[in-house]
Amino acid sequence: MLKDADRIFTNIDGRSGGSSLAEAKARGCWSGAAEYLKKTPRELLETVARSGLRGRGMFARKTAEKWSEFIKRPSAFKYLVVSVNESEPGTCKARSLLRYEAHRLLEGCLIAAYICGIRRAYIYVRGVFAEEIEILENAIAEAERAGLLGMNILRTGADLHLSVHRGGEAYVCRTDSAMFRSMEGSRPMPDFGADGEKLFGSPVLVHNPETLCMLPSVLTRGADWFSSLGRAGNEGVRLFSVSGDVERPCLVEETLGIPMRDLIDKYAGGVIGGWQNLAAVIPGGISTPCLPREICEHVRMDYDSLGAVSSGLGTGALIVIGKSSDLVGILRRIALFFKNESCGECAVCREGCRLMFDLIDGIASGRGKRSDIGRLERLCEDTENAALCPVGISAVRPVSGFLRHFRTLLEERCRD
Ligand code: SF4
Repeated sequence: MLKDADRIFTNIDGRSGGSSLAEAKARGCWSGAAEYLKKTPRELLETVARSGLRGRGMFARKTAEKWSEFIKRPSAFKYLVVSVNESEPGTCKARSLLRYEAHRLLEGCLIAAYICGIRRAYIYVRGVFAEEIEILENAIAEAERAGLLGMNILRTGADLHLSVHRGGEAYVCRTDSAMFRSMEGSRPMPDFGADGEKLFGSPVLVHNPETLCMLPSVLTRGADWFSSLGRAGNEGVRLFSVSGDVERPCLVEETLGIPMRDLIDKYAGGVIGGWQNLAAVIPGGISTPCLPREICEHVRMDYDSLGAVSSGLGTGALIVIGKSSDLVGILRRIALFFKNESCGECAVCREGCRLMFDLIDGIASGRGKRSDIGRLERLCEDTENAALCPVGISAVRPVSGFLRHFRTLLEERCRD
């Protein structure tokens, strides 16, 4: 288990104090800023590269590689956007992060912006997080008053203007270009045009908040310390939430590569009714394929291990499903979510999600036929091959994972 001395998120449950600047400083936030801002962006980039840090978002790219490419993009003006559009059922991590670790996030924004030559940043937060937005805006105001954000930060010549952008409720804004159009006041839909990946016409770097929160510790404690946690290629720590049929749902920080069973047993108090009562686990939010107990028994929680069993680390939000829960009913609810959240831009996702839901709904309610399962399979293939953005693929993966491991449950519910 991760030692307390190695924890980055020392207040993720709010038990170590409030979100004021004084309290955050007492927990170590901003302590290294004056020192690392004296170094050149290139020196800091090398430290991040040596740490092995990968983005904690959808694509898990090496952070330093992503930045190196971004730095080369020619433009006098560039933006940083932190995407906090957390809206998948079962995933509720970023909310705690904003509520209890706001200053750690702001410091991470400053580091990313300084290294990448950015002077304007937005934190895009789902509008329904009203309380968290207020906390974040107060934290920004406090940091500005203390000279930690704004012009000539800590008299080093670095500038960063940061503000919160309230988003709507559209799940499709997890796709960067849809989020940019939403910020510009247009309908949030993925933009596949020439300027699709720009914000207000300028290059933009997008990050998950969890990735940015790791940066202050990487710089102050060093790349070697960070890369000593986790496993080769999966360095560092991750926030994991565990919900569903467990004794104690929780949000914890652990090293990448921790066995899934340890997370469930040691932190969440185990499966309700014991491990033998486990039917399946969704390992990284509802867009990742669920896994049966035999795989959960030994799989590790990192990018490569979960990829090797045709699932994924996704949001790091585990949903534990006991045998007494209706797995087909859960699949139906997941399909309903994606049917409602398809933005409708491409017919294959719009109609594919609707048809997938109709077929699963029919099977779940005992009206389905065995031939519907074959139709479901073909729909998954077609939608995955032709969907224009990652949301369409996210809609398919839970269904295809279910077909791979729990096909017999669907067959048993069919009427012929
Ligand atoms: S795949 Fe779905 S969410 Fe993405 S653009 Fe097409 S319709 Fe919209």
